Amino acid sequence: MSDTPPANATSSPSPMSPEKDESRGTKRRVDEVVAGEASQVNVAPTELSDEFPELLRFYYSRLFPFAPFFEWLSYGDVSGTSVAAATGLGAAGVGEAAAGGRGDGMGLQGSYVSRREFSFTLEDDVYIRYQSFASAAELEAEIRKKRPFKIDIGAVYNAPPKDHKTIPAGAFKPLEKELVFDIDMTDYDEVRTCCSGADICTKCWPFMTIAIRVLDTALREDFGFEHLLWVYSGRRGIHCWVCDPRARALSQNGRSAVAEYLNLIRGSEDSGRKVFVTTPMHPSVERAAAVVEEYFEELVLEEQGMFGCAERWDKILPLISDESARAGIRNALIQQDGDNALGVWEGIKDMYAQNSYRSADLTEIMLQFCYPRLDIHVSKGLNHLLKSPFCVHPKTGRVCVPLDPARVADFSPFDVPTVSQLAAELTEAAKAPAPSADEPSPMDVASQSGRAYSLTSLKPYFGYFENVFLKSLLASIREIKQEAAIREGVIDF
Ligand SMILES: [Zn+2]
Repeated sequence: MSDTPPANATSSPSPMSPEKDESRGTKRRVDEVVAGEASQVNVAPTELSDEFPELLRFYYSRLFPFAPFFEWLSYGDVSGTSVAAATGLGAAGVGEAAAGGRGDGMGLQGSYVSRREFSFTLEDDVYIRYQSFASAAELEAEIRKKRPFKIDIGAVYNAPPKDHKTIPAGAFKPLEKELVFDIDMTDYDEVRTCCSGADICTKCWPFMTIAIRVLDTALREDFGFEHLLWVYSGRRGIHCWVCDPRARALSQNGRSAVAEYLNLIRGSEDSGRKVFVTTPMHPSVERAAAVVEEYFEELVLEEQGMFGCAERWDKILPLISDESARAGIRNALIQQDGDNALGVWEGIKDMYAQNSYRSADLTEIMLQFCYPRLDIHVSKGLNHLLKSPFCVHPKTGRVCVPLDPARVADFSPFDVPTVSQLAAELTEAAKAPAPSADEPSPMDVASQSGRAYSLTSLKPYFGYFENVFLKSLLASIREIKQEAAIREGVIDF
């Protein structure tokens, strides 16, 4: 994945390591750090190598939103059972996932959040798994002390992960986790011509915009999920955390079913046709196709220049099912006059309209080039770890910020602040004087409320997280609890 600093240690990952991690196979599979045993790999980017640890110290001490972060992962639960389990919501999923955990006589130990696994990747590339925290203060103290280069979030187990060694073998089980999606621009290399690998630019970022729009709508409309946290990974991708109780309680099979449903791009890199649509089209595919159509001409034909040379046509022509249509299109491409991709595309659409060619061809082409490329393995695994929101990407120095899916077209990864920029902004903000001798300065006010971020360019991102996403999540959890209490007659009016 995009979010892990490259490294070159040699040990293999366990099946529970973050999937598709570019440093997979490079992390030490240790859950206890042995002092002095740290690998010699330097994960800091060359451009940040000297100052990055210090900037991280600053970031964790002044800007990381510990309180709302912990509140999010607590999901309103302090009782020792999850809301999903307590209210019967998603009971089938919980039951299935927890069959081994709750059925063997071992009850849940500790609050929901205290049973959550965190893992840290430290500066020296030591990877520490099975961290867990009973309180926000504990989490904050440990993160400030260890200053991880990366924080991953794993599953909620039946007992605090830090105690896993004290639990009889086989009794320590993952029970719940957000349903997560990981979309990485590296998986778009076959459909982009501007960049490759870890690079992104303004010409290819719209592929991510499409991915967010398509998936956000499908998750809400087809599955009824409401609490979707979209996060920029800090470099070249995006993550989605589906936080509804029903999603967190999904079994492995349930997760696979959702991921497969949303996954339209089939086959390997070499397969010609990767998208197959039915006639009539599935409503979800039809809806995605309408989004894709808004972008296809500008993104694929103009920005990426997919009609620009024979090597690129060869990715499109095999998707034309009728042989004579294919020959006609090839001729049009050979004869195209300069930069006239849109004219050629109009000609193709006219040709399809006038003949009895399979019209789904054109939809399939648009979907094949633009539909979200999901790493479904990340979504399927209940115990896969995924990089936490609010980390700082060590390669770019950018913060992994939440983003508002309703305003996704306005989001640009290049506007996301870096830690060095934030340090400068906060230094500047500290100069603002108090309104009067009796009043605190803006910095004092912001710091006292734990929101120094509001004086920096993190404000719109962290503000969205606290004031929109978290607020709505907690309101709905309160509602679920009240309904459950009314059902059980435990509320005294
Ligand atoms: Zn690009």
